Amino acid sequence: MARHLITSAIPYINGIKHLGNLVGSQLPADLYARYLRGRGHEVLFLCATDEHGTPAELAAAKAGKPVAEYCAEMWQVQDDLGRRFGLSFDHFGRSSSAQNHRLTQHFAGALDARGLIREVSETQMYSPADGRFLPDRYIEGTCPNCGFEEARGDQCDNCGKLLDPVDLIDPYSKISGSRDLEMKETKHLYLRQSALKDDLEAWIDSKTDWPILTTSIAKKWLHDGDGLQDRGITRDLDWGIPVKKGDAPWPGMEGKVFYVWFDAPIEYIACAQEWVDAGKGTDWERWWRTDKGAGDVTYTQFMGKDNVPFHTLSFPVTILGSGEPWKLVDYIKSFNYLNYDGGQFSTSRGRGVFMDQALDILPADYWRWWLLSHVPETADSEFTWEGFQAGVNKDLADVLGNFVSRVTKFCRSKFGEAVPEGGPDTPALPEQLAELDAKLQAYTAHMDAIDIRKAAAELRGIWVWGNEYLQAAAPWSTIKTDPELAAGQIRFALNLIRLYAVLSAPFIPQSAQTMLAALGDEAATWPDDLSAALTALPPGHAFTVPDNLFAKITDEQREDWQARFAGNTG
Ligand SMILES: [Zn+2]
Repeated sequence: MARHLITSAIPYINGIKHLGNLVGSQLPADLYARYLRGRGHEVLFLCATDEHGTPAELAAAKAGKPVAEYCAEMWQVQDDLGRRFGLSFDHFGRSSSAQNHRLTQHFAGALDARGLIREVSETQMYSPADGRFLPDRYIEGTCPNCGFEEARGDQCDNCGKLLDPVDLIDPYSKISGSRDLEMKETKHLYLRQSALKDDLEAWIDSKTDWPILTTSIAKKWLHDGDGLQDRGITRDLDWGIPVKKGDAPWPGMEGKVFYVWFDAPIEYIACAQEWVDAGKGTDWERWWRTDKGAGDVTYTQFMGKDNVPFHTLSFPVTILGSGEPWKLVDYIKSFNYLNYDGGQFSTSRGRGVFMDQALDILPADYWRWWLLSHVPETADSEFTWEGFQAGVNKDLADVLGNFVSRVTKFCRSKFGEAVPEGGPDTPALPEQLAELDAKLQAYTAHMDAIDIRKAAAELRGIWVWGNEYLQAAAPWSTIKTDPELAAGQIRFALNLIRLYAVLSAPFIPQSAQTMLAALGDEAATWPDDLSAALTALPPGHAFTVPDNLFAKITDEQREDWQARFAGNTG
């Protein structure tokens, strides 16, 4: 038994996530966590909401709520949707937690003590009427490029041009509307990432097993242009973690907060403290401190490709730069993007399927199966309703669901609702069993390597194997001539259902649970020995016929949903 720490990139707080977000980190992380638990390993699986920064403040203002209240509500919404999707986090924390406040301030103090933080004077737009410096997104004005009157300080939404607030014609504060703005000097803290460039490069070079997507992005940021740049870690905002040196004030930094990218990854660690403080665990340091037992932990992170720079460079600078024995990541699994039906998911235009809508129309396992079997591992992939309908109908309904239904119903009608006695224990031929065992080994190897598409294809092959076995064995014929043989064949097939439930649980946990409950064996464990697994349900063991596991998606449903989620294109 090994110990595995798993984190998913933490989703931003300002709204419900779409399926592209889900498949880019949380869902594959859950697959791996469930798989490792199924194999008997000790797993700590953590995720949280990323709550600080301007977008949260703006979303709260739009909702007419104080930002803390808005974040608390949205955390509840995301927590609930995660549960309903079967995301098996040991804890779903919040980057705004007291634990993260303390830890972020601690890291800043430790980095400063080692000379890795410098103060930089900058000029920034100040609004006397608001009594504060304004972040770029809090300033609007007329675009110098196209004349659009509501261009933001960072970008014009009309022509797309990237802007500086000083470029805007007739700028005003988005908070108060005041046009009395002035450029004023302010101080910010910068993390000296460039000072650790060589350490980072040596560390990344040592990770020869990482996906190319991960290392290529990291190397690009290390070397492109002038190389790795120092980064600002503070902002003039109210909502965030106040800038402090550990417990002590930071002279000149009063009223400022840490920038969201600095505190968000630290939440991975703080989340483990939250897990203990919530009474779910007893010792977080044995997962995170190499001097307190974390030396034998394997730490795997899951994220979309846009998050790779923060996890390969910025967060490691925080960890390495602190000089303290924190656990560094061992493996980073990154993903490309999932597109939606010929374009992109769009939150603002309501284009694509969001997590709450998905669960309104179909159970989580339908989505989990399709998304994981089409996860954008080596390239971007695309959600289409035709592809989704085909995947659900063929894989889940025709192959797995049909097998479970045929076997249990046939047994009930011919032998009753108990595993039949008599006949051979393993009626399949040795070469057939060898083929099944090879598929099981391949599935396990792909799951160990987090090759998710290959694992899904192999799992589907294992389901297909059962259908082919059943078709060839034809117990509906043998029962007429050799009832003993038919009994052995059905006993074997019922044990296959049990095997399928255990192997499929990481992908489709709710359906696997339904299958095991119907078989009266909810404690079934991973098949370390295939022949033992295929005789686990003994003659006489009672079962029930489960309700139809998967309903097929009709053409009418598909067309209806396609129109409903196309978004506002006007
Ligand atoms: Zn413009």
